[in-house]
Parts: sequence; C-alpha cells; structure tokens
Amino acid sequence: RAKADGRGTYRFFEPGMDAKAQARRLLELELRGALARQEFELYYQPIQDLESGEIIEMEALIRWKHPLRGFVAPMDFIPVAEETGLITQIGDWVLARACKDAAAWSRPLSVAVNMSPVQFKSQALLRSVEAALSTSELPAARLELEITEAVLMDESDATLGMLHQLRNLGVRISMDDFGTGYSSLGYLRSFPFDKIKIDRSFIRDLTSRADAMAIVRAVTGLGRSLGIPTTAEGVETAEQVNLLRREGCTQVQGFHFSEPRPASEVEYMLSGRNLRIVS
Ligand code: C2E
Ligand code: MG
Ligand code: MG
Ligand code: MG
Repeated sequence: RAKADGRGTYRFFEPGMDAKAQARRLLELELRGALARQEFELYYQPIQDLESGEIIEMEALIRWKHPLRGFVAPMDFIPVAEETGLITQIGDWVLARACKDAAAWSRPLSVAVNMSPVQFKSQALLRSVEAALSTSELPAARLELEITEAVLMDESDATLGMLHQLRNLGVRISMDDFGTGYSSLGYLRSFPFDKIKIDRSFIRDLTSRADAMAIVRAVTGLGRSLGIPTTAEGVETAEQVNLLRREGCTQVQGFHFSEPRPASEVEYMLSGRNLRIVS
C-alpha cells in the first residue's frame, strides 16, 4: 500500500518502483473500479454426465472485460485481487450473479462457483452465500462451491467449521484441481467432499503418459469408494472421453464438449446445438 506523503496526499507510485511493480499497482487500481463499472462478466461451461451425455451443471468462470486490454483471464487478476483483499467483493459478486443466473435457467441445473482461499478467512462468507441464495431464491442444493487444496492448507478449525456451516445450508462442496497439491489424499479425509474434479493436467497427459493414466484410474476408484462423482476437467478429445469412460469417470467438462460461453448463451447450450454429444 502506498504511503501518504508529507502533505497528506496519497501517492500511487512510490519512487523507485520497478516496471513490474508499477504494472501491478496499476492493475490493482483498475481492479478497484472494475466492480463499480461492471466490467466483470460470468461465462459458463457445461459439465456433462458421461453415461447419459446430459448437462447436469454449469461452472461459472469470471471474465474481466477491460475497456482497453480486452478480456483479462482470471489467472491474470485473481492473484492480485487475493493479495489486495478485493477478492472478497469480487467473490460476493460472483456468488450473487451465479445464483441469480442459475435461478432463471429453463432447467434446474446446478451452478458451480470457484472460491478463493482468501474468502474462507472471514466468517462473512457464510452470510454472502446465504444472501446470494435468498435473494435469488435458488435452492441451496443447486449451488456447488469449488475449493482447491489451498483452502485446506492451514487445516484450521475455522476453515473446517466454515465448510461444515456451508454444507449445513445445503450447498455442495467439491474439490477442484485434485492432484496438484501436496497432500491431496489427506485433505479428502479432513472434509467429506461432494465431488472430486480431476485436474486438467492429468487429462491432458492421459494418452501419452502411463502415470497420468494410473492417477486418473486411482482417483475415479477413490470416487467410487467414497460414493461421490468424479469430474474430468479439460477434456479435449474423443480419445480422452473413451479412456475416461473405461476408467469409470462419471462426469466430463472441456473444450471437446463446449468452451465456456457468456451467460446469454446458456439456453443455446442447453438446447444442445453447440454441444458434442457424448457418444
Ligand atoms: P478452474 O476452476 O480449474 O477452471 C477450469 C479452467 O479450465 C477455466 O479457465 C476453463 O476455461 C479452462 N478449460 C475448460 N475446459 C478446457 C479444455 O478443454 N482445455 C483447456 N486448455 N482449458 C479448459 P479460466 O476460465 O481461465 O479459469 C482459470 C481459473 O481461474 C479457474 O480454474 C479458477 O481457479 C479461477 N477462477 C475462474 N473464475 C473464478 C471466480 O469466479 N473466482 C475465483 N476465485 N477463481 C476463479
Ligand atoms: Mg473450477
Ligand atoms: Mg479446476
Ligand atoms: Mg484449474
């Protein structure tokens, strides 16, 4: 945070900041106004049942429509939003927007919302989720919160308590990007997740690397044993679909079926016209 100088004015750039730090500070400033200027938008990507091909859920993915830079990917601003604490407001907006969108869909699909570990640092998260549900009148069972292993890294009672309180509201909690953290299996014991999403990197290497195949096999087996669905992320080819089916993976998501699309195109996706049907 820039310090006020002697005359009490707020200095945006500190003398001696390098170009990278200045670019980051600029991003932070722009991010502060982005919510007010309504520059964020939610895109949706279908998650399909591998057996029936049916769309069962949509994952909400945030996009920042920057007036000059065009679309900024989440990876390029979520970290700054997390460092500055802005992710709390952004996250609240995502929750409210996603619930509102989902409540208006022609079919009672679930909506999956990505959560930042920073959002779990405050008890206010529970109220945000409650508010998003009550304002939208979306049944809690249709909201799924995707968390990564980073949320459980501290393994604090507060974090686990929050997860249980959220679950008590009736929302589902899924483990996103499974297999990329340090203690994946341990985290599955600390909280009874409703779903495991297998990280895209394993799906990408499915046809070329035996270790990726072995891990996918192990994780789908784990899902079966725990009685919860496993979603393969980043499915791009028919060959991957066939291998995933053989291994008993239950759900698929990826460019092979559909890219994430604007909220206004959800009904079009539900009509099945843009989708590659699971065959
Ligand atoms: P994620 O939750 O694992 O989301 C999946 C990412 O994979 C998305 O990238 C999606 O566009 C991309 N993807 C889907 N299918 C394919 C495929 O077949 N091939 C490839 N190469 N990529 C595919 P996106 O939208 O850029 O989001 C990246 C990450 O940013 C997300 O990973 C999530 O961790 C985070 N994120 C997105 N939206 C939000 C949000 O609203 N809040 C928070 N806190 N994080 C978000
Ligand atoms: Mg996700
Ligand atoms: Mg993921
Ligand atoms: Mg990911």
